Amino acid sequence: MIKVKCPRCKELFEAHDAYAGKTAQCPACEHPVSIPVPSSARDLAPPKRKKEKPSLAEHGLGIAGVLLNIAAVSWLIFGFVNIARKDADLVLPVVLFPAFCLFVTGDLFLAIHEILRYLRRITVALEKGNTP
Ligand SMILES: [Zn+2]
Repeated sequence: MIKVKCPRCKELFEAHDAYAGKTAQCPACEHPVSIPVPSSARDLAPPKRKKEKPSLAEHGLGIAGVLLNIAAVSWLIFGFVNIARKDADLVLPVVLFPAFCLFVTGDLFLAIHEILRYLRRITVALEKGNTP
């Protein structure tokens, strides 16, 4: 709300922020009164800050990274239980290599996820006027 003083009858009244810069009628004497634009932010109610939600890509990367790591561990266990016992020569190409790839991809996703999260925090901090 903006505090306004009628120039004619000296009546003090409050005008809604939406009327800033416009002309309103004095509630007492109906004299047209120009509503000043608030000079400082204190005159205005603090704007509602939007909650920074993680983006879909960020969310997806985090989930995908975790799932790939789980898949890698599962594949290792499955491989050693089912393949290593029957044919030791298959352990490297069939068990270890795919599991390694799953780990690397999953951790890459998690790393990008962390970077995106960090960038979002920096953005939020900068919007608030602080440095992280
Ligand atoms: Zn008045």
